[in-house]
Amino acid sequence: MSGPNKQYDPVEVAALDPAAIEQAVADALAAIGAASSLEELKAARLAHQGEKSPLALANREIGALPPSAKAEAGKRVGQARGQVGQALKVRQEELEAERDERILVEETVDLTVRVPRRRLGARHPISLVSERVEDIFVAMGWEIAEGPEVESEWLNFDALNLGADHPARQMQDTFFIDPPELGLVLRTHTSPVQVRTMLDNEPPIYVLCPGKVFRTDELDATHTPVFHQFEGLVVDEGITMAHLKGSLDAFVSRLFGDGTVTRLRPSYFPFTEPSAEIDCRCWICGGQDPNCRTCGGTGWIEMGGCGMVNRRVLTASGIDPDRYTGFAFGLGIERSLMLRHGVGDMHDIVEGDVRFSTQFGMEI
Ligand SMILES: [Zn+2]
Repeated sequence: MSGPNKQYDPVEVAALDPAAIEQAVADALAAIGAASSLEELKAARLAHQGEKSPLALANREIGALPPSAKAEAGKRVGQARGQVGQALKVRQEELEAERDERILVEETVDLTVRVPRRRLGARHPISLVSERVEDIFVAMGWEIAEGPEVESEWLNFDALNLGADHPARQMQDTFFIDPPELGLVLRTHTSPVQVRTMLDNEPPIYVLCPGKVFRTDELDATHTPVFHQFEGLVVDEGITMAHLKGSLDAFVSRLFGDGTVTRLRPSYFPFTEPSAEIDCRCWICGGQDPNCRTCGGTGWIEMGGCGMVNRRVLTASGIDPDRYTGFAFGLGIERSLMLRHGVGDMHDIVEGDVRFSTQFGMEI
């Protein structure tokens, strides 16, 4: 900026040259017109109205003019600055209006738009059936007993009247834990939990033992090496097979509907004597439909095995067989699930695909 100059020659003050001012105004108006956002307009304002802009510079030069020239130059610069200021104001209002309009559109909440929902998982039907069965027995006053899945051979076999040379010991395809001298197996049934319960408790005993069991089966449509059982055990004075039959009937009518009954067929298990297979009256056709797919037209569905606890098992478990008698039964959950819900392939049950579980919802 020039200081006061007594020998001032207006021609030498380039900033006040009318053509330069016109050019400055034209540049300013072009920049203001080209600004397409408030940020760009701010930059244009700084460049054309700010302290270092050509017009601000020209304004400062006026002070250095001789009085005779000040008025005209002042008028010219003032008009130019006014023109630029007005253009800035107009463009500012336009851009603010555009911004407000855009916000209204962009931030509108469309209540009709579908939003992606996170899919809920579902509990596995094995868990649901297990809990339902447990609830039925707990409601009858029974207790739930659990035990380890890695079990001693003695508890899994010997205590249950399956001695080392007992042929039935070979009936169960067993996973043995290395090294063999440890005498440990993956339990082949939940019966060792019954033995543990009898060893730890005095009769009366009314327990349900649910849990995973293991056999060396290949996974196919109807077999799995890991499956779920629940076994029941009652030991008390004067217990007979009538109590066993009554308990099973009460259970199936709670699970499958009023009036569902069971029948017992003679069988053999080393840990019970006498022993029986449990059949349940078909809950689909009630034994009325010779073409029923669930029971194959027989009217009965195999559920598992049962019997009166063998005296030798009671003795091995520290119970006096002359004073107490008891009954026991064992049922497979997978089989119930396949029959009750028409699950055709064991793979669906064990693979854990949530699409399978969601079919059963939260309650079945
Ligand atoms: Zn049927």
